[in-house]
Amino acid sequence: MNVLSRFLYLFMSLPIVVPNSYFVTWDKLISRFIWGGKKPRIKYKTLQLDKEHGGLALPNLKQYYYAAQLKYIACWCAPEIKAQWKQIEMNLGACRTDPAFARWRDKGLTALCLFLERDEIKSFEKLKSEFNLENRDLFRYLQLRHFYNSNVKQGITLKGKGLITIFTESYRHLPNKTISRLYKGLQSQNDNSVSAKSKWEKELNIKLSESDWHDLCKTQQTSTRSGRWKEFGWKIILRFFITPQIATKQQGKPKYCWRQCGHVNANHSHIFWLCDKLRIFWDSVIKTIEGIMGYIIPKDPQIFLLGLLPKDSSSLHVRFVPTPHRPLTS
Ligand SMILES: [Zn+2]
Repeated sequence: MNVLSRFLYLFMSLPIVVPNSYFVTWDKLISRFIWGGKKPRIKYKTLQLDKEHGGLALPNLKQYYYAAQLKYIACWCAPEIKAQWKQIEMNLGACRTDPAFARWRDKGLTALCLFLERDEIKSFEKLKSEFNLENRDLFRYLQLRHFYNSNVKQGITLKGKGLITIFTESYRHLPNKTISRLYKGLQSQNDNSVSAKSKWEKELNIKLSESDWHDLCKTQQTSTRSGRWKEFGWKIILRFFITPQIATKQQGKPKYCWRQCGHVNANHSHIFWLCDKLRIFWDSVIKTIEGIMGYIIPKDPQIFLLGLLPKDSSSLHVRFVPTPHRPLTS
């Protein structure tokens, strides 16, 4: 995206603090452009989520700014990046107050992640053989292990692990597309909940796990190559359309179902699944698919409306019962 690359150039070139109000203003300008000055139908933060979480991967400028700044920490970690400022930084820190740590630095022990194996500090014997430590280093090893277990370990959350991994991997080599990876790491720490998910749960009286939501968003993106149908599927699951229920709230007078079934204040579930006028349509869709696939598929809005397929094979056996004329095994 042309706009994003221009912003990124500035974020990387200018080592200054960009006030939060700037990001708010830029987000408002972009939102106004997307919706043509009209009231947004989907939250800006939802649009910024990646496609597998129900968004459209709209760039989050603030997080791109953070990622651009964090890149220098990854460069600091990467051994192949040579710069004078790195040497100045290395001469600071623990080795200044305790010369023994300077010996560790010279042996290549420059970061805590080098002491770790599956999030645990390696044994002293193992470190001795790997980095040629001496017996007199045992006390400092115990100090470091205590510091890690009491101050660092519990602060590492599952969400933050993706970001930490980028820095620890940088000690081997700087990863490609560092800013993009850091941006994804920052995004993984965001709250990815979408209001549409809880509204579908309430209307259809179902329970969708985070993984279910992830799967059905993915289905919308991968089940067709047509951009038009992808967009339509996305609009359905994100509840883009202004239903009679929403129009009633907006205009203050009761609105009837689009399909003229006589239902007042029809919501998304009614419009796309429950409406009596749709019964023949959905029955014919199900019958056609069953004819092609050769087994019975339950008339379930999670499958046909939201595109959520059963995950495990045992569930498939229970839910997709083979028809007598063409069993599954044939
Ligand atoms: Zn209706």
